[in-house]
Amino acid sequence: MPISAPQPQKRSSDAEHAEPTVTDHLVEANAKYASSFRDPGMDARPVLKVAIVACMDARLDLHAALGLELGDCHTIRNAGGVVTDDIIRSLTISQRALGTRSVVLIHHTGCGLLNLTEDFRHEIEAEVGQRPAWAVEAFKDLDQDVRQSMQRVRTSPFLPHRDDVRGFVFDVTTGRLREIDPRP
Ligand SMILES: [Zn+2]
Repeated sequence: MPISAPQPQKRSSDAEHAEPTVTDHLVEANAKYASSFRDPGMDARPVLKVAIVACMDARLDLHAALGLELGDCHTIRNAGGVVTDDIIRSLTISQRALGTRSVVLIHHTGCGLLNLTEDFRHEIEAEVGQRPAWAVEAFKDLDQDVRQSMQRVRTSPFLPHRDDVRGFVFDVTTGRLREIDPRP
């Protein structure tokens, strides 16, 4: 039997008795948001000229935690807040095309990547018969991973602004940032 791609979930409006999906709730929330939205009249360049690279963790509300307003910064997020080639791509565009100068890196306590190893990739390969091209970038030492991320930004030849790069660990239980010394 041929393997078929998973069918996209039908919109609730398509099926009379279907429960609303999480996306339906989001779309509904957006309708409320848009009803009182006023065009802020901004262009795409972040007001504070800063790019923040952070983990995608759901407990990390960057704007609230850092006192940021709409339009202040670029937020670039992935699993772990790891500085991968794609993060460098975004930072390069952020700095060269959209005028940012500073980089802030934020990892956090209780990160999902602390519980993974590169075995994750091998297990996926065994399951699906194809090896992911990406590294898991799992880590055991949060501080050291922040240092490595700072180092990757500071040594990237593509970034014109590498003098203001600072790294932090956010504590998900206290909401506090702890700055990491770039030297171990
Ligand atoms: Zn995380």
